[in-house]
Amino acid sequence: SKAKLFDEKTDTRTSFKDVAGLEGAKEEIEEIVEFLKNPDKYTSLGGKIPKGALLVGPPGTGKTLLAKAVAGEAKVPFFSLSGSDFVEMFVGVGASRVRDLFKQAKDKSPAIIFIDEIDAIGRARGKSNFTGSNDERENTLNQLLTEMDGFGTNTNVIVLAATNRADVLDKALMRAGRFDRQIYVDLPDIRERKEIFEVHLRPIKTSETLDVDFLAKQTPGFSGADIANVCNEAALIAARKEKKAVSKQDFLDAVDRIVGGLEKKNKIIT
Ligand code: ATP
Repeated sequence: SKAKLFDEKTDTRTSFKDVAGLEGAKEEIEEIVEFLKNPDKYTSLGGKIPKGALLVGPPGTGKTLLAKAVAGEAKVPFFSLSGSDFVEMFVGVGASRVRDLFKQAKDKSPAIIFIDEIDAIGRARGKSNFTGSNDERENTLNQLLTEMDGFGTNTNVIVLAATNRADVLDKALMRAGRFDRQIYVDLPDIRERKEIFEVHLRPIKTSETLDVDFLAKQTPGFSGADIANVCNEAALIAARKEKKAVSKQDFLDAVDRIVGGLEKKNKIIT
């Protein structure tokens, strides 16, 4: 079967309201929404709109969500692909996929291109990695750099890329006119976990008024994705017991289950 390498959606459903916490990151990225909405305002004095920004942070902290929210807020199409899609590709395929992607985005500009796991293609050149052909990865990376350099100042395509390994990226990616802005997306603190719970509790039918502060306290080290998982798991646990609504205990059981899963994952790594 043929992998779907990128999909284009005019995603007006995701907005900043869906992104809890991350105040600093939201504030920084809000500027990009402004650029996309009013490009002429910013270029009228001879300034250049940034071409790219790198979202850096641990897995599951909302990088993809934030990129989608930018597209949603600016009401522009969202084109995405994952760096890992390029692993094990035949020679020339990766570079041509990048070319296609940029062409599509330019045709529909203003637009957002989102590249998840950019480290899979953006590792420093000349260093080996464990997956796929290094030459092919380098070709893909070079094509990406070429495309970003080739943008005119009025292309109005902004490339957002996500990674949890900014340290391994080729420095050429961070040069001026490429991903010259870095936005940090950290694990949520207790107050942010509370806000994330509030977002993900919205669709859940609960049997009592839940103490969200308590849930936030029970989940140190959890990412936004883990919290979304807890809420979903709690609803499934309650449904399995034929219950009509989800109780505090169901949430605690879900937290235990997720903690168990995280511990297992950590064991495999170490
Ligand atoms: P990865 O590095 O693993 O790709 P990511 O940082 O891109 O992760 P997302 O894919 O954006 O993380 O997050 C996964 C899901 O977790 C989101 O779709 C959302 O449901 C939930 N989530 C993560 N962070 C937040 C947040 N700050 N507010 C609300 N929900 C969040």
